[in-house]
Amino acid sequence: MNTVANHDFVIAKFGGTSVADYQSMCHSIDIVLSNPNIKVVVLSASAGITNLLVALAEGRNPDIREQHIQKIQAIQYEILQHLTDNQTAKAYIDQIIVNISALSEAASLATSCALTDELVSHGELMSSYLFTQLLKQKQVNAIWFDVRKVLRTDDNFGKAAPQFKQIKQLCCAHLKSITEKQLVITQGFIGSELSGKTTTLGRGGSDYSAALLGEALNATRIDIWTDVAGIYTTDPRITPNAKRIDDITFAEASEMATFGAKVLHPATLVPAVRSNIPVFVGSSKAPEEGGTIVYNSKNITSTLPLFRAIALRRKQTLLTLHSLNMLHAHGFLANVFDIMARHNISVDLVTTSEVNIALTLDTAGTNTNGNNLLTDELLKELSELCHVQVEDNLALVAIIGNQLTEAKGMTTQVFNTLSSFSIRLSCYGASTHNICFLVNSNDADTLVQKLHHSLFE
Ligand code: ADP
Ligand code: ASP
Ligand code: MG
Repeated sequence: MNTVANHDFVIAKFGGTSVADYQSMCHSIDIVLSNPNIKVVVLSASAGITNLLVALAEGRNPDIREQHIQKIQAIQYEILQHLTDNQTAKAYIDQIIVNISALSEAASLATSCALTDELVSHGELMSSYLFTQLLKQKQVNAIWFDVRKVLRTDDNFGKAAPQFKQIKQLCCAHLKSITEKQLVITQGFIGSELSGKTTTLGRGGSDYSAALLGEALNATRIDIWTDVAGIYTTDPRITPNAKRIDDITFAEASEMATFGAKVLHPATLVPAVRSNIPVFVGSSKAPEEGGTIVYNSKNITSTLPLFRAIALRRKQTLLTLHSLNMLHAHGFLANVFDIMARHNISVDLVTTSEVNIALTLDTAGTNTNGNNLLTDELLKELSELCHVQVEDNLALVAIIGNQLTEAKGMTTQVFNTLSSFSIRLSCYGASTHNICFLVNSNDADTLVQKLHHSLFE
């Protein structure tokens, strides 16, 4: 692993599997204690807990509620039992379970995005509390910190937008001085809006929290500890032949995250790029295996490869809009995108022909409340403008690389590999870093394996 100088200030984030149980927390604690430059630790909820809380927030009947709450309690009690003097900690966890129970009952009467965020925030509150107690048991001068004091967001519950300026000011006022004396343990994923209500940054948002805090506290590195030893040429779950990438540029890794490489939340690198903070990704179970360092391209001396990685994003929806009014007319695209903007929809891929527009939406999204983007109101508005066709069960495959638009023969190699698949849509040319295809969901894994074999093995 990269060594760092003494004045360095590292933020370390541990994902759900790295705090899933007592054993995993111990591995993560060893990593924290092995590096005195780690000043702030950002934690996800223990694995599985956020999913259970999201299910509760959708409103469940009393029996299912009880089952889910017992599962949550069992996961946290397994960790709790390793605290020798655990009465205070048990009282804290029990109180949280009472809160979860009351909020779940409220959700079964009426759901709301604000209620969902309040409910799911308890996952991170519990894991960070237990982690702090385990550190204290080891006589570490650690302090639990409620990140909602500093991580200010807007009030778009479920996928709140961080308010960078305020976060910086609040961190300077309430957090910086603590990090000089104590090891701060805090929560990823959650924040608060102006009036103090709890918000969340969207599923997988803890990576983003770590980067935001890293930026606000002038960190010299952000470490993302997860269940894989770095960023690979594709998801190692899809292709066991995926290879670890030791060094990668911000631009390449951002493209990967945007196009579905779940190892980093899509927005993670925004603060890192803005403030030029290197990001390390490694496995908390096997830190000795090293990992990937993501940084400014200036730091990479070797030539950047033509093909860097393949990313896959499932659950894509394709909208095909058809209107004869488009023929030799202007303003039609503007009207379509105006409707999309009013419905807070971000369009991913776009292709157009004389009287058709095809565009893709990420219906899986990362909203904590999992609301479907494709609402009846949106479809109604679009239908007033043109004929609308909706296709589901699609996946977006992106090849990430460098100077892709300049390489001769590149498309031949790619399309030859794909010749046995039907490609519903392809996008190429807007960026030199990617070439994307929309394919049937059922073909996605095989297609990625074939492409990986052809481009990387
Ligand atoms: P955490 O809970 O620690 O945030 P995640 O499950 O969100 O972990 O992200 C880690 C997972 O990302 C890995 O287990 C892996 O399956 C997946 N993944 C997808 N693409 C990649 C990639 N290119 N390199 C490494 N992991 C990837
Ligand atoms: N616990 C949240 C989730 O499961 C946030 C995170 O783990 O990053 O989405
Ligand atoms: Mg994650």
